[in-house]
Amino acid sequence: MPGAGRRLPFMRFLCEYRQFARACSTHSRCHFRKYRLRTARREHRDGPPPGLSRHIEAHRCLRKGHRRRHLYRVRAPHRASPQHVRRFTPPTIVATVGADGSSSPGTRAITPRTKAGCMLRDYVFHDATRSFCSACQELCDAKIIIKNGSAYLLKTCRTHGEELALFEEDASYLFEKHRYDKPGNRAKAETPVRDGCPYDCGLCPDHEQHTCIGLIEVTHACDLGCPVCYASSGTGEHLPLEQIERMMDFYKAREGGKPEILQIGGGEPTTHPQIEAILTLAKRKRFKYVMLNTNGLRIAEDRAFATFLRSLTPGFEVYLQFDGLKERVYQKLRGRKLLETKLAAIENLQAAEVPITLVATIVRGVNDTQIGDIVHFGMDSDYVRGVNFQPVAFFGRGPAENIANRVTLSGIRREIERQTDSQFKREDIVPLPCDVDRVAVTYAVRNGNGFMPVTSKIKLDNYVELIDNTMDFRAEDLVKNAITRSLTKGIACDCFRLKDEIMSILPEEYLKWTPRQRADFIDKNTFRITISSFIDRYNFDAKSIKKECVHVITPDLKRIPFSAYNMLHRSQT
Ligand code: SF4
Ligand code: SF4
Repeated sequence: MPGAGRRLPFMRFLCEYRQFARACSTHSRCHFRKYRLRTARREHRDGPPPGLSRHIEAHRCLRKGHRRRHLYRVRAPHRASPQHVRRFTPPTIVATVGADGSSSPGTRAITPRTKAGCMLRDYVFHDATRSFCSACQELCDAKIIIKNGSAYLLKTCRTHGEELALFEEDASYLFEKHRYDKPGNRAKAETPVRDGCPYDCGLCPDHEQHTCIGLIEVTHACDLGCPVCYASSGTGEHLPLEQIERMMDFYKAREGGKPEILQIGGGEPTTHPQIEAILTLAKRKRFKYVMLNTNGLRIAEDRAFATFLRSLTPGFEVYLQFDGLKERVYQKLRGRKLLETKLAAIENLQAAEVPITLVATIVRGVNDTQIGDIVHFGMDSDYVRGVNFQPVAFFGRGPAENIANRVTLSGIRREIERQTDSQFKREDIVPLPCDVDRVAVTYAVRNGNGFMPVTSKIKLDNYVELIDNTMDFRAEDLVKNAITRSLTKGIACDCFRLKDEIMSILPEEYLKWTPRQRADFIDKNTFRITISSFIDRYNFDAKSIKKECVHVITPDLKRIPFSAYNMLHRSQT
Protein backbone atom coordinates (compact mmCIF):
# COMPACT_ATOMS: atom_id res chain seq x y z
CA MET A 1 0.00 0.00 0.00
CA PRO A 2 1.47 3.40 -0.92
CA GLY A 3 2.74 5.34 2.04
CA ALA A 4 2.97 2.12 4.07
CA GLY A 5 6.33 1.14 2.60
CA ARG A 6 5.25 -1.96 0.59
CA ARG A 7 6.44 -2.64 -2.97
CA LEU A 8 3.68 -2.47 -5.56
CA PRO A 9 3.40 -3.37 -9.23
CA PHE A 10 4.41 -0.22 -11.09
CA MET A 11 1.10 0.32 -12.93
CA ARG A 12 -0.99 0.11 -9.79
CA PHE A 13 1.42 2.37 -7.98
CA LEU A 14 1.23 4.98 -10.71
CA CYS A 15 -2.51 4.68 -11.00
CA GLU A 16 -3.11 5.35 -7.32
CA TYR A 17 -0.67 8.21 -7.11
CA ARG A 18 -1.88 9.86 -10.27
CA GLN A 19 -5.29 9.83 -8.71
CA PHE A 20 -3.87 11.40 -5.58
CA ALA A 21 -1.86 14.00 -7.43
CA ARG A 22 -4.96 15.10 -9.31
CA ALA A 23 -6.94 15.16 -6.09
CA CYS A 24 -4.58 17.51 -4.30
CA SER A 25 -6.15 20.82 -5.22
CA THR A 26 -3.77 23.06 -3.34
CA HIS A 27 -0.55 22.18 -5.05
CA SER A 28 -0.64 20.71 -8.51
CA ARG A 29 2.94 19.45 -8.30
CA CYS A 30 2.23 17.44 -5.18
CA HIS A 31 3.98 14.13 -5.71
CA PHE A 32 4.68 11.06 -3.67
CA ARG A 33 8.43 11.38 -4.08
CA LYS A 34 8.54 14.89 -2.70
CA TYR A 35 6.09 15.06 0.13
CA ARG A 36 5.10 12.91 3.01
CA LEU A 37 1.73 11.21 2.69
CA ARG A 38 -0.36 9.55 5.29
CA THR A 39 -2.51 6.64 4.20
CA ALA A 40 -5.23 5.17 6.34
CA ARG A 41 -8.15 2.86 5.79
CA ARG A 42 -11.53 3.23 7.31
CA GLU A 43 -14.97 1.93 6.65
CA HIS A 44 -17.25 3.98 4.45
CA ARG A 45 -19.94 5.58 6.60
CA ASP A 46 -22.95 4.84 4.42
CA GLY A 47 -22.02 1.36 3.28
CA PRO A 48 -20.01 0.51 0.15
CA PRO A 49 -20.93 2.29 -3.09
CA PRO A 50 -21.71 -0.18 -5.94
CA GLY A 51 -18.62 -1.85 -7.32
CA LEU A 52 -16.32 -0.45 -4.66
CA SER A 53 -14.80 -1.94 -1.57
CA ARG A 54 -16.16 -1.64 1.93
CA HIS A 55 -13.27 0.61 2.87
CA ILE A 56 -12.15 3.95 1.66
CA GLU A 57 -8.52 4.75 1.58
CA ALA A 58 -7.65 8.18 2.89
CA HIS A 59 -4.54 9.78 1.46
CA ARG A 60 -3.56 12.88 3.28
CA CYS A 61 -0.83 15.16 2.11
CA LEU A 62 0.85 16.56 5.17
CA ARG A 63 2.49 19.46 3.42
CA LYS A 64 1.43 22.83 4.81
CA GLY A 65 -2.05 23.86 3.81
CA HIS A 66 -2.81 20.89 1.55
CA ARG A 67 -6.27 19.43 1.39
CA ARG A 68 -7.44 16.05 2.51
CA ARG A 69 -8.89 13.73 -0.07
CA HIS A 70 -10.61 10.42 0.43
CA LEU A 71 -10.40 8.07 -2.51
CA TYR A 72 -12.46 4.96 -3.00
CA ARG A 73 -10.46 1.85 -3.47
CA VAL A 74 -11.62 -0.69 -6.03
CA ARG A 75 -12.91 -4.05 -4.82
CA ALA A 76 -10.14 -6.09 -6.49
CA PRO A 77 -6.88 -4.25 -5.81
CA HIS A 78 -4.80 -6.29 -8.26
CA ARG A 79 -6.99 -5.04 -11.14
CA ALA A 80 -6.64 -1.42 -10.20
CA SER A 81 -6.27 0.85 -13.19
CA PRO A 82 -7.61 4.28 -14.08
CA GLN A 83 -10.88 2.93 -15.44
CA HIS A 84 -11.54 1.07 -12.19
CA VAL A 85 -11.06 4.08 -10.00
CA ARG A 86 -14.13 6.19 -9.52
CA ARG A 87 -13.30 9.71 -10.56
CA PHE A 88 -16.48 11.75 -10.23
CA THR A 89 -19.95 10.99 -9.01
CA PRO A 90 -22.58 12.46 -11.33
CA PRO A 91 -23.79 15.72 -9.77
CA THR A 92 -27.01 15.65 -7.82
CA ILE A 93 -28.33 18.65 -5.98
CA VAL A 94 -28.97 17.87 -2.35
CA ALA A 95 -31.17 20.88 -1.70
CA THR A 96 -32.01 24.21 -3.22
CA VAL A 97 -32.44 27.01 -0.76
CA GLY A 98 -34.05 30.27 -1.75
CA ALA A 99 -33.48 33.70 -0.23
CA ASP A 100 -37.15 33.73 0.67
CA GLY A 101 -36.53 30.60 2.70
CA SER A 102 -38.15 28.16 0.28
CA SER A 103 -36.40 24.85 -0.16
CA SER A 104 -36.84 22.14 -2.72
CA PRO A 105 -34.79 19.03 -2.01
CA GLY A 106 -33.25 17.35 -5.00
CA THR A 107 -34.16 20.07 -7.48
CA ARG A 108 -31.59 21.01 -10.08
CA ALA A 109 -31.42 24.77 -9.85
CA ILE A 110 -28.25 25.49 -11.78
CA THR A 111 -27.87 25.23 -15.53
CA PRO A 112 -26.29 21.78 -16.09
CA ARG A 113 -22.56 22.11 -16.64
CA THR A 114 -22.43 19.28 -19.12
CA LYS A 115 -24.49 21.13 -21.73
CA ALA A 116 -22.47 22.10 -24.73
CA GLY A 117 -22.83 25.33 -26.64
CA CYS A 118 -22.89 28.97 -25.60
CA MET A 119 -25.66 28.84 -23.08
CA LEU A 120 -25.25 31.48 -20.37
CA ARG A 121 -25.24 30.39 -16.78
CA ASP A 122 -28.10 31.74 -14.71
CA TYR A 123 -25.79 33.11 -12.04
CA VAL A 124 -22.73 35.34 -11.73
CA PHE A 125 -19.58 33.75 -10.35
CA HIS A 126 -18.23 35.85 -7.49
CA ASP A 127 -15.50 33.94 -5.66
CA ALA A 128 -14.11 30.49 -4.87
CA THR A 129 -13.76 29.00 -1.41
CA ARG A 130 -14.02 25.70 0.48
CA SER A 131 -17.04 24.48 2.37
CA PHE A 132 -18.52 21.32 3.87
CA CYS A 133 -20.76 18.85 2.08
CA SER A 134 -23.83 18.57 4.28
CA ALA A 135 -24.25 14.87 3.40
CA CYS A 136 -20.80 13.46 4.20
CA GLN A 137 -19.48 16.41 6.26
CA GLU A 138 -16.24 16.44 4.26
CA LEU A 139 -14.56 19.59 2.98
CA CYS A 140 -15.27 20.31 -0.66
CA ASP A 141 -14.69 23.05 -3.22
CA ALA A 142 -17.33 25.74 -3.43
CA LYS A 143 -18.14 28.77 -5.52
CA ILE A 144 -19.81 31.86 -4.18
CA ILE A 145 -22.37 32.78 -6.81
CA ILE A 146 -24.88 35.57 -7.15
CA LYS A 147 -28.35 34.90 -8.34
CA ASN A 148 -31.53 36.98 -8.08
CA GLY A 149 -29.82 39.49 -5.78
CA SER A 150 -28.75 36.86 -3.21
CA ALA A 151 -25.42 35.08 -2.74
CA TYR A 152 -25.18 31.29 -2.54
CA LEU A 153 -22.53 28.70 -1.92
CA LEU A 154 -22.46 26.22 -4.79
CA LYS A 155 -20.61 23.26 -3.29
CA THR A 156 -19.27 20.35 -5.28
CA CYS A 157 -18.69 17.17 -3.32
CA ARG A 158 -16.97 14.36 -5.21
CA THR A 159 -19.30 11.85 -3.64
CA HIS A 160 -22.59 13.68 -3.30
CA GLY A 161 -22.50 16.10 -6.19
CA GLU A 162 -23.63 19.71 -6.13
CA GLU A 163 -25.39 21.48 -3.34
CA LEU A 164 -26.66 25.01 -3.12
CA ALA A 165 -26.81 26.83 0.21
CA LEU A 166 -27.85 30.38 1.00
CA PHE A 167 -24.85 32.54 1.89
CA GLU A 168 -26.17 36.12 2.07
CA GLU A 169 -29.73 37.23 1.38
CA ASP A 170 -28.51 40.57 0.04
CA ALA A 171 -25.54 40.08 -2.31
CA SER A 172 -24.66 43.80 -2.27
CA TYR A 173 -23.14 43.20 1.18
CA LEU A 174 -20.35 41.17 -0.47
CA PHE A 175 -19.25 44.23 -2.45
CA GLU A 176 -19.73 46.68 0.37
CA LYS A 177 -17.64 44.76 2.88
CA HIS A 178 -14.46 45.13 0.82
CA ARG A 179 -14.53 48.90 1.36
CA TYR A 180 -14.11 48.28 5.09
CA ASP A 181 -11.66 45.40 5.00
CA LYS A 182 -8.14 45.91 6.35
CA PRO A 183 -5.18 43.76 7.40
CA GLY A 184 -5.73 41.71 10.54
CA ASN A 185 -3.47 41.76 13.59
CA ARG A 186 -0.96 38.94 13.64
CA ALA A 187 -1.79 36.52 16.46
CA LYS A 188 0.53 34.23 18.38
CA ALA A 189 -0.01 30.62 17.37
CA GLU A 190 -0.56 27.68 19.69
CA THR A 191 -0.91 24.86 17.16
CA PRO A 192 0.95 24.02 13.93
CA VAL A 193 -0.58 23.88 10.46
CA ARG A 194 -0.98 20.17 9.82
CA ASP A 195 -4.38 18.97 8.61
CA GLY A 196 -5.62 22.23 7.09
CA CYS A 197 -8.26 24.73 8.16
CA PRO A 198 -10.49 24.35 10.20
CA TYR A 199 -8.91 21.22 11.73
CA ASP A 200 -5.78 22.95 13.05
CA CYS A 201 -7.30 25.37 15.60
CA GLY A 202 -5.82 27.04 17.30
CA LEU A 203 -4.92 29.54 16.86
CA CYS A 204 -2.70 28.20 14.09
CA PRO A 205 -0.23 30.46 12.26
CA ASP A 206 -2.66 30.71 9.33
CA HIS A 207 -5.27 32.58 11.36
CA GLU A 208 -5.63 36.16 10.13
CA GLN A 209 -6.97 38.01 13.16
CA HIS A 210 -6.15 38.36 16.84
CA THR A 211 -8.72 37.85 19.59
CA CYS A 212 -11.18 40.74 19.82
CA ILE A 213 -13.48 38.82 22.17
CA GLY A 214 -12.19 35.95 24.31
CA LEU A 215 -14.98 33.75 25.63
CA ILE A 216 -14.45 31.65 28.75
CA GLU A 217 -17.18 29.10 29.37
CA VAL A 218 -17.05 28.78 33.14
CA THR A 219 -19.68 26.06 33.36
CA HIS A 220 -21.57 23.58 31.19
CA ALA A 221 -24.62 23.72 33.44
CA CYS A 222 -27.65 25.82 32.57
CA ASP A 223 -30.98 26.46 34.27
CA LEU A 224 -32.86 26.81 30.97
CA GLY A 225 -31.99 24.08 28.42
CA CYS A 226 -33.12 25.99 25.30
CA PRO A 227 -34.14 24.00 22.21
CA VAL A 228 -31.77 26.18 20.10
CA CYS A 229 -28.74 26.08 22.42
CA TYR A 230 -25.53 26.02 20.35
CA ALA A 231 -23.65 24.52 23.31
CA SER A 232 -26.27 21.84 24.11
CA SER A 233 -26.07 23.04 27.71
CA GLY A 234 -28.13 21.55 30.50
CA THR A 235 -26.34 19.56 33.13
CA GLY A 236 -22.59 19.72 33.49
CA GLU A 237 -19.55 20.63 35.49
CA HIS A 238 -18.38 24.00 36.75
CA LEU A 239 -14.74 24.90 36.05
CA PRO A 240 -12.64 25.48 39.18
CA LEU A 241 -11.65 29.09 39.86
CA GLU A 242 -7.92 28.29 39.58
CA GLN A 243 -8.43 26.89 36.09
CA ILE A 244 -10.44 29.95 35.06
CA GLU A 245 -7.64 32.17 36.31
CA ARG A 246 -5.13 30.19 34.23
CA MET A 247 -7.34 30.70 31.16
CA MET A 248 -7.57 34.45 31.82
CA ASP A 249 -3.80 34.70 32.24
CA PHE A 250 -3.28 32.73 29.04
CA TYR A 251 -5.61 35.04 27.07
CA LYS A 252 -3.91 38.09 28.52
CA ALA A 253 -0.41 36.80 27.74
CA ARG A 254 -1.33 35.82 24.18
CA GLU A 255 -2.64 39.35 23.56
CA GLY A 256 0.62 40.92 24.70
CA GLY A 257 -0.72 41.88 28.14
CA LYS A 258 -3.42 44.11 26.61
CA PRO A 259 -6.45 41.92 25.99
CA GLU A 260 -9.65 43.49 24.76
CA ILE A 261 -13.04 42.03 25.65
CA LEU A 262 -13.50 39.09 27.99
CA GLN A 263 -16.87 37.37 27.88
CA ILE A 264 -17.84 35.14 30.78
CA GLY A 265 -20.28 32.58 29.41
CA GLY A 266 -21.33 28.97 29.68
CA GLY A 267 -23.79 27.18 30.03
CA GLU A 268 -25.30 29.78 32.29
CA PRO A 269 -22.43 31.46 34.17
CA THR A 270 -24.61 32.74 37.01
CA THR A 271 -25.20 29.12 38.11
CA HIS A 272 -21.48 28.87 38.93
CA PRO A 273 -21.20 29.00 42.74
CA GLN A 274 -18.18 31.34 42.48
CA ILE A 275 -19.48 33.71 39.81
CA GLU A 276 -18.88 36.82 41.95
CA ALA A 277 -15.26 35.75 42.50
CA ILE A 278 -14.82 35.05 38.77
CA LEU A 279 -16.09 38.48 37.75
CA THR A 280 -14.07 40.25 40.42
CA LEU A 281 -10.99 38.37 39.25
CA ALA A 282 -11.67 39.39 35.64
CA LYS A 283 -11.85 43.05 36.68
CA ARG A 284 -8.65 42.70 38.69
CA LYS A 285 -6.87 41.33 35.63
CA ARG A 286 -7.60 44.62 33.83
CA PHE A 287 -9.33 43.41 30.70
CA LYS A 288 -10.40 46.39 28.63
CA TYR A 289 -14.02 45.30 28.89
CA VAL A 290 -15.80 42.44 30.67
CA MET A 291 -19.19 41.06 29.65
CA LEU A 292 -21.44 38.63 31.47
CA ASN A 293 -23.29 36.44 28.97
CA THR A 294 -26.53 35.48 30.71
CA ASN A 295 -30.13 34.39 30.25
CA GLY A 296 -31.07 36.78 33.10
CA LEU A 297 -32.94 34.26 35.28
CA ARG A 298 -30.81 34.90 38.35
CA ILE A 299 -30.69 38.68 37.83
CA ALA A 300 -34.50 38.77 37.64
CA GLU A 301 -34.80 37.11 41.04
CA ASP A 302 -31.74 38.38 42.86
CA ARG A 303 -31.56 42.16 43.27
CA ALA A 304 -28.46 41.86 45.44
CA PHE A 305 -26.65 40.18 42.54
CA ALA A 306 -27.62 43.08 40.23
CA THR A 307 -26.29 45.51 42.84
CA PHE A 308 -23.04 43.54 43.00
CA LEU A 309 -22.69 43.90 39.21
CA ARG A 310 -22.76 47.67 39.59
CA SER A 311 -19.43 47.44 41.46
CA LEU A 312 -17.83 46.10 38.26
CA THR A 313 -18.63 49.21 36.18
CA PRO A 314 -17.29 51.04 34.24
CA GLY A 315 -15.82 48.60 31.75
CA PHE A 316 -18.50 46.00 32.40
CA GLU A 317 -21.87 45.15 30.91
CA VAL A 318 -24.47 42.42 30.93
CA TYR A 319 -24.96 40.65 27.61
CA LEU A 320 -28.58 39.68 28.15
CA GLN A 321 -30.40 37.06 26.09
CA PHE A 322 -33.54 38.85 24.83
CA ASP A 323 -35.28 37.38 21.78
CA GLY A 324 -38.33 39.59 21.46
CA LEU A 325 -41.38 41.08 23.07
CA LYS A 326 -43.80 38.20 22.54
CA GLU A 327 -44.20 35.19 24.82
CA ARG A 328 -44.61 32.83 21.86
CA VAL A 329 -41.01 33.64 20.83
CA TYR A 330 -39.64 32.45 24.18
CA GLN A 331 -41.91 29.43 24.18
CA LYS A 332 -40.48 28.41 20.82
CA LEU A 333 -36.79 29.30 21.28
CA ARG A 334 -36.31 28.82 25.01
CA GLY A 335 -38.93 26.21 25.80
CA ARG A 336 -40.97 28.31 28.21
CA LYS A 337 -42.58 31.71 28.75
CA LEU A 338 -39.91 34.18 29.83
CA LEU A 339 -40.91 37.70 28.82
CA GLU A 340 -41.84 38.74 32.38
CA THR A 341 -38.52 37.35 33.65
CA LYS A 342 -36.54 39.25 31.03
CA LEU A 343 -38.32 42.51 31.85
CA ALA A 344 -37.70 41.95 35.58
CA ALA A 345 -33.99 41.38 34.89
CA ILE A 346 -33.79 44.62 32.89
CA GLU A 347 -35.59 46.50 35.67
CA ASN A 348 -33.15 45.22 38.31
CA LEU A 349 -30.15 46.13 36.16
CA GLN A 350 -31.56 49.60 35.48
CA ALA A 351 -32.17 50.13 39.18
CA ALA A 352 -28.54 49.17 39.82
CA GLU A 353 -27.36 51.34 36.87
CA VAL A 354 -25.67 48.45 35.07
CA PRO A 355 -25.26 48.80 31.29
CA ILE A 356 -26.97 46.14 29.19
CA THR A 357 -26.71 44.81 25.64
CA LEU A 358 -29.77 42.88 24.49
CA VAL A 359 -28.85 39.77 22.49
CA ALA A 360 -31.45 38.30 20.16
CA THR A 361 -31.09 35.01 18.29
CA ILE A 362 -33.09 35.48 15.10
CA VAL A 363 -34.97 32.56 13.59
CA ARG A 364 -37.09 33.01 10.48
CA GLY A 365 -40.78 32.59 11.13
CA VAL A 366 -40.27 32.94 14.90
CA ASN A 367 -38.92 36.41 15.67
CA ASP A 368 -37.64 37.90 12.41
CA THR A 369 -40.62 40.26 12.50
CA GLN A 370 -39.61 41.42 16.00
CA ILE A 371 -36.34 43.05 14.93
CA GLY A 372 -37.72 46.61 14.77
CA ASP A 373 -39.58 46.19 18.08
CA ILE A 374 -36.38 45.04 19.80
CA VAL A 375 -34.47 48.07 18.44
CA HIS A 376 -37.19 50.48 19.59
CA PHE A 377 -37.47 48.81 22.98
CA GLY A 378 -33.70 49.11 23.44
CA MET A 379 -33.62 52.78 22.46
CA ASP A 380 -36.47 53.57 24.86
CA SER A 381 -34.85 51.78 27.84
CA ASP A 382 -32.31 53.43 30.12
CA TYR A 383 -28.99 51.63 30.44
CA VAL A 384 -29.59 49.54 27.34
CA ARG A 385 -26.44 50.42 25.40
CA GLY A 386 -27.34 48.44 22.35
CA VAL A 387 -28.76 45.34 20.74
CA ASN A 388 -26.93 42.47 19.13
CA PHE A 389 -28.68 40.31 16.54
CA GLN A 390 -27.39 36.82 15.86
CA PRO A 391 -28.85 34.78 12.98
CA VAL A 392 -29.37 31.29 14.39
CA ALA A 393 -26.44 28.98 13.60
CA PHE A 394 -26.91 25.26 13.21
CA PHE A 395 -24.72 23.61 15.77
CA GLY A 396 -25.52 22.11 19.15
CA ARG A 397 -29.29 21.83 19.49
CA GLY A 398 -29.89 24.33 16.65
CA PRO A 399 -32.89 22.83 14.82
CA ALA A 400 -31.64 21.34 11.56
CA GLU A 401 -35.09 21.54 9.97
CA ASN A 402 -34.67 25.34 9.85
CA ILE A 403 -31.55 25.27 7.65
CA ALA A 404 -33.58 26.04 4.56
CA ASN A 405 -35.01 29.04 6.41
CA ARG A 406 -31.78 30.52 7.63
CA VAL A 407 -31.52 34.23 8.29
CA THR A 408 -28.29 35.99 7.31
CA LEU A 409 -26.43 39.11 8.37
CA SER A 410 -27.46 41.05 5.27
CA GLY A 411 -31.06 39.89 5.68
CA ILE A 412 -31.19 41.29 9.22
CA ARG A 413 -29.66 44.54 7.99
CA ARG A 414 -32.44 44.81 5.44
CA GLU A 415 -35.07 44.06 8.08
CA ILE A 416 -33.68 46.72 10.43
CA GLU A 417 -34.15 49.31 7.69
CA ARG A 418 -37.66 48.08 6.91
CA GLN A 419 -38.85 47.63 10.49
CA THR A 420 -37.45 50.95 11.78
CA ASP A 421 -39.01 52.90 8.88
CA SER A 422 -35.51 53.75 7.60
CA GLN A 423 -34.39 55.38 10.85
CA PHE A 424 -31.43 53.03 10.40
CA LYS A 425 -30.75 52.52 6.71
CA ARG A 426 -28.94 49.39 5.66
CA GLU A 427 -25.89 51.40 4.54
CA ASP A 428 -25.72 52.91 8.06
CA ILE A 429 -24.98 49.42 9.41
CA VAL A 430 -21.43 49.00 8.19
CA PRO A 431 -19.10 45.98 8.14
CA LEU A 432 -16.82 46.06 11.19
CA PRO A 433 -13.23 46.32 9.88
CA CYS A 434 -11.85 43.61 12.21
CA ASP A 435 -14.20 40.98 10.70
CA VAL A 436 -16.14 42.36 7.74
CA ASP A 437 -17.60 38.99 6.77
CA ARG A 438 -19.25 38.26 10.07
CA VAL A 439 -19.96 41.50 11.96
CA ALA A 440 -21.78 44.69 10.99
CA VAL A 441 -22.37 47.62 13.30
CA THR A 442 -23.88 51.06 13.64
CA TYR A 443 -23.56 53.61 16.42
CA ALA A 444 -26.20 56.21 17.09
CA VAL A 445 -26.08 59.31 19.28
CA ARG A 446 -28.99 60.99 20.98
CA ASN A 447 -30.42 63.71 18.84
CA GLY A 448 -33.34 65.49 20.53
CA ASN A 449 -35.82 62.77 21.44
CA GLY A 450 -34.40 60.14 19.15
CA PHE A 451 -31.12 58.68 17.95
CA MET A 452 -29.16 59.47 14.81
CA PRO A 453 -26.72 56.95 13.30
CA VAL A 454 -23.16 58.33 13.41
CA THR A 455 -22.40 56.43 10.22
CA SER A 456 -24.90 58.58 8.33
CA LYS A 457 -22.78 61.67 9.20
CA ILE A 458 -19.27 60.24 9.09
CA LYS A 459 -18.27 58.09 6.14
CA LEU A 460 -16.18 55.58 8.06
CA ASP A 461 -14.95 53.81 4.93
CA ASN A 462 -12.78 56.91 4.32
CA TYR A 463 -10.99 56.31 7.60
CA VAL A 464 -10.68 52.53 7.80
CA GLU A 465 -6.94 52.72 8.49
CA LEU A 466 -7.64 54.74 11.65
CA ILE A 467 -9.99 52.13 13.07
CA ASP A 468 -8.28 49.58 15.28
CA ASN A 469 -8.99 45.86 14.87
CA THR A 470 -11.37 45.79 17.79
CA MET A 471 -14.99 45.23 18.71
CA ASP A 472 -14.66 47.71 21.56
CA PHE A 473 -14.93 50.62 19.19
CA ARG A 474 -14.53 53.93 21.09
CA ALA A 475 -14.85 57.49 19.86
CA GLU A 476 -11.88 58.62 21.94
CA ASP A 477 -9.62 55.97 20.35
CA LEU A 478 -10.66 57.14 16.90
CA VAL A 479 -9.99 60.78 17.84
CA LYS A 480 -6.63 59.80 19.35
CA ASN A 481 -5.65 57.88 16.19
CA ALA A 482 -6.81 60.81 14.04
CA ILE A 483 -4.72 63.30 16.04
CA THR A 484 -1.62 61.06 16.03
CA ARG A 485 -1.95 60.41 12.30
CA SER A 486 -2.52 64.09 11.48
CA LEU A 487 0.62 65.00 13.43
CA THR A 488 2.68 62.53 11.43
CA LYS A 489 1.07 63.22 8.07
CA GLY A 490 0.55 66.98 8.27
CA ILE A 491 -2.34 69.41 8.15
CA ALA A 492 -3.59 68.29 4.75
CA CYS A 493 -4.40 64.84 6.08
CA ASP A 494 -8.07 63.74 6.22
CA CYS A 495 -7.56 62.89 9.88
CA PHE A 496 -8.21 66.48 10.94
CA ARG A 497 -11.55 66.36 9.22
CA LEU A 498 -12.39 63.10 11.00
CA LYS A 499 -11.47 64.56 14.38
CA ASP A 500 -13.72 67.56 13.72
CA GLU A 501 -16.54 65.34 12.53
CA ILE A 502 -16.37 63.19 15.66
CA MET A 503 -16.10 66.14 18.02
CA SER A 504 -19.11 67.79 16.36
CA ILE A 505 -21.30 64.99 17.70
CA LEU A 506 -19.71 64.78 21.17
CA PRO A 507 -19.77 67.38 23.97
CA GLU A 508 -16.80 69.77 23.74
CA GLU A 509 -15.34 68.70 27.07
CA TYR A 510 -15.73 64.93 26.37
CA LEU A 511 -12.00 64.23 26.05
CA LYS A 512 -11.30 65.88 29.42
CA TRP A 513 -13.82 63.75 31.33
CA THR A 514 -12.92 60.87 33.64
CA PRO A 515 -13.59 57.30 32.42
CA ARG A 516 -16.66 57.14 34.70
CA GLN A 517 -18.08 60.39 33.22
CA ARG A 518 -17.47 59.16 29.68
CA ALA A 519 -19.09 55.82 30.48
CA ASP A 520 -22.15 57.58 31.93
CA PHE A 521 -22.43 59.77 28.84
CA ILE A 522 -22.13 56.73 26.54
CA ASP A 523 -24.69 54.76 28.58
CA LYS A 524 -27.27 57.51 28.38
CA ASN A 525 -26.63 59.05 24.97
CA THR A 526 -25.44 56.41 22.57
CA PHE A 527 -26.96 53.28 21.13
CA ARG A 528 -25.25 50.50 19.21
CA ILE A 529 -26.72 47.91 16.85
CA THR A 530 -24.51 44.97 15.94
CA ILE A 531 -25.16 41.90 13.85
CA SER A 532 -22.86 38.94 14.49
CA SER A 533 -23.29 35.91 12.30
CA PHE A 534 -21.48 32.65 12.93
CA ILE A 535 -20.79 29.93 10.43
CA ASP A 536 -21.82 26.31 10.62
CA ARG A 537 -21.29 23.36 8.28
CA TYR A 538 -24.00 24.57 5.92
CA ASN A 539 -22.71 28.09 5.22
CA PHE A 540 -19.06 27.37 6.00
CA ASP A 541 -16.65 29.60 4.10
CA ALA A 542 -12.99 28.77 4.60
CA LYS A 543 -11.98 32.35 3.86
CA SER A 544 -14.08 34.10 6.44
CA ILE A 545 -13.39 31.68 9.28
CA LYS A 546 -9.71 32.62 9.13
CA LYS A 547 -10.60 36.16 10.18
CA GLU A 548 -13.13 35.33 12.87
CA CYS A 549 -12.14 37.25 15.99
CA VAL A 550 -14.47 35.82 18.65
CA HIS A 551 -12.38 33.05 20.16
CA VAL A 552 -13.23 30.46 22.78
CA ILE A 553 -10.47 30.13 25.40
CA THR A 554 -10.39 26.42 26.15
CA PRO A 555 -9.36 24.74 29.43
CA ASP A 556 -6.36 23.16 27.64
CA LEU A 557 -5.22 26.70 26.77
CA LYS A 558 -6.06 27.15 23.13
CA ARG A 559 -7.91 29.91 21.32
CA ILE A 560 -10.44 28.50 18.89
CA PRO A 561 -12.65 30.64 16.62
CA PHE A 562 -16.20 30.41 17.95
CA SER A 563 -17.68 28.88 14.78
CA ALA A 564 -14.94 26.28 14.38
CA TYR A 565 -15.22 25.41 18.07
CA ASN A 566 -18.93 24.70 17.85
CA MET A 567 -18.68 22.90 14.52
CA LEU A 568 -15.77 20.61 15.27
CA HIS A 569 -13.86 21.07 18.47
CA ARG A 570 -16.40 21.42 21.30
CA SER A 571 -16.77 17.69 21.82
CA GLN A 572 -12.99 17.21 21.92
CA THR A 573 -12.20 19.70 24.71
S1 SF4 B 1 -9.95 28.59 11.79
FE1 SF4 B 1 -8.08 29.78 12.09
S2 SF4 B 1 -7.02 28.74 13.77
FE2 SF4 B 1 -8.55 27.33 12.99
S3 SF4 B 1 -7.42 26.10 11.49
FE3 SF4 B 1 -8.41 27.80 10.38
S4 SF4 B 1 -6.84 29.37 10.28
FE4 SF4 B 1 -6.19 27.93 11.86
S1 SF4 C 1 -28.71 29.06 24.96
FE1 SF4 C 1 -27.88 29.90 26.86
S2 SF4 C 1 -29.62 29.90 28.25
FE2 SF4 C 1 -30.17 28.54 26.59
S3 SF4 C 1 -29.53 26.48 27.27
FE3 SF4 C 1 -27.82 27.34 26.10
S4 SF4 C 1 -26.52 28.28 27.64
FE4 SF4 C 1 -28.53 27.98 28.59
